[in-house]
Amino acid sequence: MKISYKPFELELKYPFTIARFSRTSTPLILLEINYEGFTGYGEASMVPYLGESVQTASYFLSKVDSSQIKYPFNYAEILFYLDEIQSGNSNIKAAIDIALHDLQGKIENQPCYSLFRSDPLNMPATSLTIGIDTPEIVIQKVKESEDCKIIKVKLGRDNDKELINTIRSVSDKPLYVDANQGWADKHQGLDMVHWLHEQGVILIEQPMSKDDLDSNAWITENSPVPIIGDEAVQRYADVEKAKGVYRGINVKLMKSAGMYESYRMIIKAKELGLKVLIGCMSETSCATLAGAALAPLCDWADLDGPFLTRNNPYQNPEFENGKWVLSDAPGLGLVFR
Ligand code: MG
Repeated sequence: MKISYKPFELELKYPFTIARFSRTSTPLILLEINYEGFTGYGEASMVPYLGESVQTASYFLSKVDSSQIKYPFNYAEILFYLDEIQSGNSNIKAAIDIALHDLQGKIENQPCYSLFRSDPLNMPATSLTIGIDTPEIVIQKVKESEDCKIIKVKLGRDNDKELINTIRSVSDKPLYVDANQGWADKHQGLDMVHWLHEQGVILIEQPMSKDDLDSNAWITENSPVPIIGDEAVQRYADVEKAKGVYRGINVKLMKSAGMYESYRMIIKAKELGLKVLIGCMSETSCATLAGAALAPLCDWADLDGPFLTRNNPYQNPEFENGKWVLSDAPGLGLVFR
């Protein structure tokens, strides 16, 4: 098993602005694992809020002994080994896990979704995120989002209603809202939830600080719209804690250390009666295809990475009727440009 990797700066079409910050590119690590003539591809997206960088990820990889990873892959053991090296670093652990699943699919001549008994016929529509911007740019972005059937909006600033009104002036598509912990007062938050409900919003992510369980739970309890925990739910152990606080969870491969643990989180959430939104980071087709392989097991999908980037080194996967189309190619079905 040979692991190699290179840093890659993923450029964004528009500056990405959420409640707390703005940026124009995202550092990635593109990773490959070679084994007996097969190559599996993986990706780590180092979004700043998870605290990882190319430096920390490279340092982590320098400590991985690839002879510890043996085929057939025991993902529980592999993840245990990686977690033992160091806690955190979920992004680069995800890159390894994604590459191993791609590799396994290729060795066994099966698409990755089959490895999880995920049925492409159940693929949910993917939303497209419209970041915080001037009304002119927001309108332009909405017009460019024609292929997507759902729009996701980042809120959490003073002009939230203005942004929604701007979108509603040109589109009546269903909306997902992500407050990214940006609301400070639960009563004002709930007023906003009711207003958003009237505007056709069908789910709301992380209204308040992930540490304020009581306020998030109070909003969930009183909200007509499902409230979804995102920043509050990183890995498997967080799923149980989400019960009673949120109505659903946002699972992302970069938070959960990859497909194996995301799958476990999805199954656990269902057992607990929680809904599941599968999300993504700023990322290429590689991580998005890994997420899309699991998306049919989820209630909603927000896998818009490839739409928001300028220099994706891979082809965009096929997209039809607002949904990713999974190919029956072995592994992830990733195609280079
Ligand atoms: Mg979110």
